[in-house]
Amino acid sequence: MPTGYVHHPLFFWHDTGTSAGVMPADPFAGIQPYVHVENADAKRRSHELIQTSGVLAAALKVVDPREATMDELLRVHTSDHIQSINEQSELRGGGDAGDGFSPVGRGSYRIARLAAGGLVELVTAVAEGVVTNGYALLRPPGHHATADQGMGFCLFNNVAVAARHAQKVLGLGRVAVVDFDVHHGNGTQAIFYGDPSVLTISLHQDNCFPPASGALAENGLGDGAGYAINCPLPAGTGHAGYLHAMREVVLPALDRFAPDLILVSAGFDANNFEQMARQMLTADTYREMTRLLVEAAERLCHGRLVSAHEGGYNPWYVPLCVLAHVEELSGHHTHVVDPYAAVVAPDHLLPHQREVIETAARLVARITPAPTSSVA
Ligand SMILES: [Zn+2]
Repeated sequence: MPTGYVHHPLFFWHDTGTSAGVMPADPFAGIQPYVHVENADAKRRSHELIQTSGVLAAALKVVDPREATMDELLRVHTSDHIQSINEQSELRGGGDAGDGFSPVGRGSYRIARLAAGGLVELVTAVAEGVVTNGYALLRPPGHHATADQGMGFCLFNNVAVAARHAQKVLGLGRVAVVDFDVHHGNGTQAIFYGDPSVLTISLHQDNCFPPASGALAENGLGDGAGYAINCPLPAGTGHAGYLHAMREVVLPALDRFAPDLILVSAGFDANNFEQMARQMLTADTYREMTRLLVEAAERLCHGRLVSAHEGGYNPWYVPLCVLAHVEELSGHHTHVVDPYAAVVAPDHLLPHQREVIETAARLVARITPAPTSSVA
């Protein structure tokens, strides 16, 4: 069976305007109009590489997105938040999703619904066995959006909407969300913080974004105690540290939780050439992390793994990281070899990185072991 692939031109037309990086242009405050860091370039070029490398024709099945319904959004978001995004999106110059750094372009309400609905369609295709697993090249991203507010360039929480659809409609009871975006998956964590049926695991750069979010001590609440795991990796953690965290934290947590579905918040902004954080991953790191997650999905939940694009802003390196991810999801390897790998120095697991990972690994014991996947 092929790997499912969701994309749409409208994702690239989500207009984030003329901010200088993340700051709205303000000529008399010295902020010259430029381009918002979350623009279409990295994702459009990722799509083009997926196409020109040959993996699209050889191994992917396109799953068409459609707009998420109001019922699907309301499983996660408040009606006030949905209405607010709609209103902001009607403004002639666009508006903001809630934190002043998350532009809502004209029409972005419907594009954000198309992103969330696209992931719902992909999860459905995986659950129904139409495709083995899948990757959705979504824009706008979702993992910072909470129930009642957009933030960090995110409008609706695509992964959370897909997780609730999997549970309520597709009968997949236990959902694990693995978030390897370099920033903390705070929105997804907050939405499921009291819910033991959704395990959230976030690998991120310590205290990067949002500020003071994603500490080891944030571990779930009430019935959900133990079902939010954070691994705040020190700035400068590279290939060895991330793979150590995968093997010591993510995989043992998945094995103990035994999900019926694995969702991946696939941000590619921990790459070595990224402007929005200070980690040192290469395309090969994403390849290895993806391979481990695919193996876990095969071992635990009949291969059911659905990946949603989150961050990743370097337009010339992110596409190579995305291609490595898609190659491992599909098992089809193209002729493309990462030409930049040669300029990244080899790295080693350092003591201060190992210490954080070992502390996070001790949290795995708080998950009540599930005997096996409950859904065939
Ligand atoms: Zn990010």
